[in-house]
Amino acid sequence: MKTIKKMRYNWEASVLGLMFQLNQKQKAKRRVKSGRNWKSEYLTPPLDIANKSKMLVARHILRGRHANERGKVAWVTSGAPAEFLKALGFYILYPENHAAICGTARVAEEISSEAENAGYSRDLCSYARTDIGSVLSGKTPIKTIPKPDILLVCTNICQTVLHWYRVLAHHFDVPLILIDAPFIYTEASDHSIEFIKRQIEEAIPLAEKIAGKSLDPQKFAEVINLSRDASMLWMQILDRCQHRPAPISAFDQFIQMAPIVEMRGEVETVDFYAEMLHEIDQRIAQGVGAVKNEKKRLLWDNLPIWYRLRYLAEFLGQHGIVIATSTYTNAWGELADLYDPEKPLESAARTYIYPMLNRGAGDKLAKMKRMIEDFHLDGVILHSDRSCKPYSIGQMDQRDRIIKDLEIPALLLEADHNDPRSYSEEQTTNRLESFVEGLGF
Ligand code: SF4
Repeated sequence: MKTIKKMRYNWEASVLGLMFQLNQKQKAKRRVKSGRNWKSEYLTPPLDIANKSKMLVARHILRGRHANERGKVAWVTSGAPAEFLKALGFYILYPENHAAICGTARVAEEISSEAENAGYSRDLCSYARTDIGSVLSGKTPIKTIPKPDILLVCTNICQTVLHWYRVLAHHFDVPLILIDAPFIYTEASDHSIEFIKRQIEEAIPLAEKIAGKSLDPQKFAEVINLSRDASMLWMQILDRCQHRPAPISAFDQFIQMAPIVEMRGEVETVDFYAEMLHEIDQRIAQGVGAVKNEKKRLLWDNLPIWYRLRYLAEFLGQHGIVIATSTYTNAWGELADLYDPEKPLESAARTYIYPMLNRGAGDKLAKMKRMIEDFHLDGVILHSDRSCKPYSIGQMDQRDRIIKDLEIPALLLEADHNDPRSYSEEQTTNRLESFVEGLGF
């Protein structure tokens, strides 16, 4: 039986993964040969590396199908210090990423309705509703997801995750590790960092018990090192968009950020971003921009609207507008310098106390102002995300301050990152049209 399972695993995770990659390559070649190239008039085709990221994500998903048979599984929040679990060999699943896949596959509404039918309010974050709906109904666009042996939640992004993971812990009857992150307004105090460090220290024996092995300090340092390298490369990729024309847009970044969220601490992730940076540098050398005729450059604040990425990219692209950068994708690179493989535990505590959502609204405004300057931006779109209250709080003031202090237009766009019921295409289009006019074409 074991042999059959092993063969099935190797077939799905390795052979199918490889076949998927070859298929993607062949498709890309055929598209070029037949002249049936990219359909958009306004946008440059995606990077070649996009096929590789699809393959990386597909392989991770395929591995997940057999993760319960092959070892232990941890479900973790996106901003959690998951490196010690990775070093212990856990297969790591990020329910937020899975929910985003449901969003882009346009099944989030159907799946979150399952949670709503079970009594969960529509006022809850749509990631939480999508995940809980998927757990309750078994519905997922990726066929199946592995069950957790342990849950790790960190409150450095919001408090919703705590309640959401309590539901999961109850449902799966598995231990829940809570890393409680004190909120910071300016600088994190030493005792706040020590507080997080001790919580991670206390969590390690439980994780070791479930993993059935001890944490190897060298392996832990290696994983931290790989997380740092990948984050640094990601930051360099984002910073390349200071070039005019921007070689990739925030819409490309939203798609290509999957490995930095889901596969931090892996060699393949570092290699992937090194290759991506190389291709971006080639684009810059050739003067190729994400938008073919770039005229104006914008900042995007908050999560993407996963189910309308292409529509928004096309709408803006036809006006020669590129979203050159976003606070959301930036969040995955800006803390890279805080990882320190020499002090894995302390640096994990330091890195994961500083995410943007764990800092004051004034800090975000200052960051946006810096980005507007560094990326030579002409305006800002602030997505007021019905689901993500911690990200959206203060946006009205931030918009007003940007308009007043920097004298550039800023638009507050109401939607929801995953739930299309809180999005109106007509209203969005009308608001974007007026905003575009205000950019001074
Ligand atoms: S409320 Fe915001 S930060 Fe919290 S899980 Fe939802 S999207 Fe993430």
